[in-house]
Amino acid sequence: MAEKLNSFRSGPDERGHFGIFGGRFVAETLMPLILDLEKHYEAAKQDPSFKAELDNLLTHYVGRPSPLYYAERLTDHLRQKAAASGASGGAKIYFKREELNHTGAHKINNVLGQILLARRMGKTRIIAETGAGQHGVATATACARFGLECIVYMGSVDVERQKPNVFRMNMLGAKVVPVQSGAKTLKDAMNEALRDWVTNVGNTFYCIGTAAGPHPYPAMVRDFQCVIGEETRRQMVEAEGRLPDSLFACIGGGSNAIGLFHPFLDEPSVEIYGVEAAGYGLDKKHAASLAGGRPGVLHGNRTYLLMDADGQIEEGHSISAGLDYPGIGPEHAWLKETGRVTYLSATDAEALAAFQLCAKLEGIIPALEPAHALAKVAEIAPQEPQDHLLVVNISGRGDKDIFTVADHLGGM
Ligand SMILES: *Cc1c(COP(=O)(O)O)cnc(C)c1O
Repeated sequence: MAEKLNSFRSGPDERGHFGIFGGRFVAETLMPLILDLEKHYEAAKQDPSFKAELDNLLTHYVGRPSPLYYAERLTDHLRQKAAASGASGGAKIYFKREELNHTGAHKINNVLGQILLARRMGKTRIIAETGAGQHGVATATACARFGLECIVYMGSVDVERQKPNVFRMNMLGAKVVPVQSGAKTLKDAMNEALRDWVTNVGNTFYCIGTAAGPHPYPAMVRDFQCVIGEETRRQMVEAEGRLPDSLFACIGGGSNAIGLFHPFLDEPSVEIYGVEAAGYGLDKKHAASLAGGRPGVLHGNRTYLLMDADGQIEEGHSISAGLDYPGIGPEHAWLKETGRVTYLSATDAEALAAFQLCAKLEGIIPALEPAHALAKVAEIAPQEPQDHLLVVNISGRGDKDIFTVADHLGGM
C-alpha cells in the first residue's frame, strides 16, 4: 500500500494518462498547438523567473496567502449537535479562505499562471470558456492587467442567467461571445473555444478554467492551484503543529479540489473527500459525474461523464452554476478508482442549508459551490473526535449567489 501511495502525486504519464483516464483526444489540427503548449509549460516550470513572477502577482495582486481560519462557532455548533445525540465528537473545523482572493474565488490562481505562460509564448489573444462567468471574469481581469485581447465564449442560456458577470467582463474590456449550439451552456462554450483555437493558431492562447481538457491542461491547472494545498499544509503545521486529518472540497471540474488535495495525496493519514453536486437528487437531475456517470471522452480527455443510453452528453443540473459541468477532471476519475479520495455528493437543498448555517454562524457568505462541501462537513464532522483537524476549501464568496438563494428561500 505504501508503495502505491507514493505514486499518487506522480501522474500523469508522458501522454497525459492518469490510469485509463486523461490523454489527448483531439483533432489532428489541434495536436501541434497542444504539443507546443506542453513544451513551453515544461520549460516555464523549470524557470525560476517564471515562478518568481507568478509568486509576486499572487502576493500583491491576488492577496495570497489566503488565511486558514478556525471556524469556532461552526465547530461548537456541530459539537453540540453530536452531544445532543449522545456522542462526544465534533472535529475542529478550519476554512481555507479562497473567497478572499481578488475576484472572489480560486480561479484567479490558475488564470494568472496561464496568462504568464501565454506572454512567454508571445501570444496576444486570449480565449476562454465560461459557464457561470467566474472563470470568464478571472480571465478578463488578468487580460486587463496585461493589456491582452480577451474573448470569452459563453452559452447563450448562461449569458441570460448570469448577466452581472457578463457586465463585469465587458467592463474589464473582454468580448463575450454567446454560443448558440447544443444546450447553449458550458459544454458548448468549451467546444466553441476549441474551434476558435484551431482556426486562430498563430496568436491565440486557450485559457481553460478547470482541471479538465486535453493533456497538459489537467496537470497544468492542478499545478497552478496547488498553492492552495501547499499553503494549507504550512499554515496547519503553524497553527496545530501537525497535518490536518481530513480535507473537503466541492467539485465542478475539480480544480479547487485537486489544488487542495494534491500536496496531501501521499500522506496516508489524511482522509480526503470531494463533494459533487447531487442537484435534485442522484435519481433525478444532478451534476455528479462520478456518482451518476460513466467513462467516456469529452473535450479531449477520457473521464466520467453524464451520458444517456446512447452516449450523448446530458446536461447537468445544480443550484450552483459553477458545478453543473457534465464531466470531471481525469485525475479525480483516477483518484476515485484507486480509492485514494472518497467522493460524496450534496443536493441543492443540503447546500442551501449549509450556505445559511455558514453565513449565520461565521459571518461568511460562501458561494453555493463550497456550500456543497460544507453540507458534507456538517454531516461528517460530528462523527469525528474533537482532536480531528478538518479543512474545508471555501472556494469562493457568495455575493453572486444571493439572488438565487433568495429565490429558493422565498424571502427578501
Ligand atoms: C468555478 C467554481 C467552482 C468549480 O470549479 P472547480 O474547477 O471544480 O474548482 C467551485 N467554486 C467556485 C467558487 C467556483 O467559482
